[in-house]
This record gives sequence, C-alpha cells and structure tokens, in this order.
Amino acid sequence: MRRSAQIGLALLLLLLFSPALARVRAGQQYDSTSGPLPVFELHSGFWTNLHHTLYHEARLRTAAAAPEKNDKTTEPTLKVAPEAKTALTTTEQKAWDDAVAYYEANYARKDLLFTTELIQLKNQLGDFEDCDELSGRMKKFCDAGLPPKLTQVLEAAATVYRAHYWQDHDRANRRWIMRVAPLVREQGVGLSERLADIYQARWPRAKIRVDVTAYANWAGAYTTLDPLRVTISSLDSRNQGAEALEVLFHEASHEIAEPVQEAIIRECRQRDKAIPRDLWHALVFYTTGEVIRPVITSSGASSGDQDGNGYTPYAVREGLYQRGWNDYYKLLQRFWQPYLNGQATFDDAVARMVSQL
Ligand SMILES: [Zn+2]
Repeated sequence: MRRSAQIGLALLLLLLFSPALARVRAGQQYDSTSGPLPVFELHSGFWTNLHHTLYHEARLRTAAAAPEKNDKTTEPTLKVAPEAKTALTTTEQKAWDDAVAYYEANYARKDLLFTTELIQLKNQLGDFEDCDELSGRMKKFCDAGLPPKLTQVLEAAATVYRAHYWQDHDRANRRWIMRVAPLVREQGVGLSERLADIYQARWPRAKIRVDVTAYANWAGAYTTLDPLRVTISSLDSRNQGAEALEVLFHEASHEIAEPVQEAIIRECRQRDKAIPRDLWHALVFYTTGEVIRPVITSSGASSGDQDGNGYTPYAVREGLYQRGWNDYYKLLQRFWQPYLNGQATFDDAVARMVSQL
C-alpha cells in the first residue's frame, strides 16, 4: 500500500516527530517510500536495514578478531549509534549473537558489491519490505524463498532489531530522505537529463530504487546493476547535507556512464594501452561533482567549504584524487572539462585523455 504517497510534508513531519505516533509506527509495517519524487524511489525498508546492520556487525567482529588480516584499513568506523547502549535480555542477546555469528561465518568476508549471493539476498529482502516475516507462515506471499536456516536466523534477529534498533535506524533514514527530497524534487529531472546527455546514454525510464539504510558498505553507498539498485547509508558522515544529492546521482551514474567506460576501453585497444581500471570511476566522480556544484551553490543548500567558496564536490572533499587519482584529475580538468563546457566532443575528449595516459 502506497499510503505515504498522499501524505504531505507537514504530516510527514508530524509523524516523524510525534513520539506517540513514532511508537505505533515502529511496531508495524508501513509504506516505506517517501512520496512521489521524480527520478528516484527512496525506501527505508525493514529487512534491508536488518541485513546491512548484521553484515556491519559481523564485519566489525571479523576485523576485531583478526586486525592484521583486515586489508580494508581505510574502512571508516561509523559512529556508534545511541541504541547500541540499549540493554538486551539474555534471550534477545542470544538471538542477535547467533544472527551476527551466522553473518560472520557466511557473509562477512564477501563483498556486498561483488558477490552475486549478497546482491540477490539484498534485492530479495528489499522486495519483501512490506512483510513482517520471510517464511510465509502467516501470509503465503511473504515466503521469500530464502534458505530455511537463513530465514530462521533473520526472523529471530528481526524480533530483537524491531524492539531495539529499527526505530532509530528508520528515523535516521526518513530524516535523510526528508532532507534530500526537496533538492530531488527541484533539480532531479534537470540533473538526470544533463547527465544522460553528457554520457550519451538514456536515463532509465523507471524510477531508480534507492534503499536508504543505517549501514551500507565500506564506501557508505553502493550500486548493483540488473536490476539497478542503489544502497545509501543514512548515518555515514560522507552522505549528509546537500552532499546527499551528489551521492544519489553519483550512484545512479554507475549505470548510465557505461558508454564512457566503453569509449575508454575502445581508445585503449586502438592505442594498445593498458585499460586504466579506475579512470571511468574518477570521471563519474568528477562529472557528478561539476554538474551538481552550480545547482547546490545557487540553491543555497550548502554552507560551502571552509573558505565559503560554494559547494565542494565529494571527490575533492573526501580526498579521492589525492589518494591515487591525481593524474586522472589533471586529465579530467584538461580534456573532459572542455567537453562539459561544450567546447569539445565526447569522442575527442575521451581520445585525448587516453592518448595522455
Ligand atoms: Zn561510484
């Protein structure tokens, strides 16, 4: 039921900040979309959030158990959410620990972005967000068809998650959605058209599903293709404020930037050069940042950088170029920027970048 589609912003605000209603909402399934936004369909789904929380905790335990083997030393440590202090009963603690142990044994060493099993599980759990269960015991259509042991683990953990964590996570997700929604409403269509134009691609006709979750992967957001789905952490410090808009469009660009990736590969083959693994990704960061910058600056949605110079794109802010992409950054400024300014063609820009590699 798409109930909240009809709920106005005022009512949504009331719902979010009324403690009595929040208590009622936390205990039941409800519509998890934020209303009719263009371009994106933003969800705060129970099972997807539980899944990523368990994965997050399992990874923390794995890292704590074998710190020297943890190669992701750059993985950010997220703030410990306030609900972590909530005391669990012995039974609850056991159910939760069992679930985390299951994730530790089966998933913690697998990558959310590159493991088909984890991608399918995430998508499946997203599809069942309106269900209170995954086994279909009470409602047949709520049989998610997952392996019995996993179903049992998730359902047991769900009771604990619902009682202790979900309310805070859902509130954080909804707050994140509410903050980015006005920008999406105002700029979403224009930005999607501009980006599709730049990449010489078609923007997907269907709205892009975005799962907003307390925890996502180590990067704070990731995108899986076929079907195109984006997962964004609402608690990650890198995804806050007006920057959330850039994260949304960066992630969505993963699919539509394919022609750039193909063009880079084609140019490299013609010149018999090794294909630079991350150039297309640096290009997507650069492009999204440059396209978003004037929009955010003119909307006044950003407080600007320390010097008050308007919006600072994600890759600059988070130091991605300094950490190994500096040569790409120079190439992008020199050859890709003229294309963005309308002073070069797509093919020439890519060819020039590759010729300088
Ligand atoms: Zn990316």
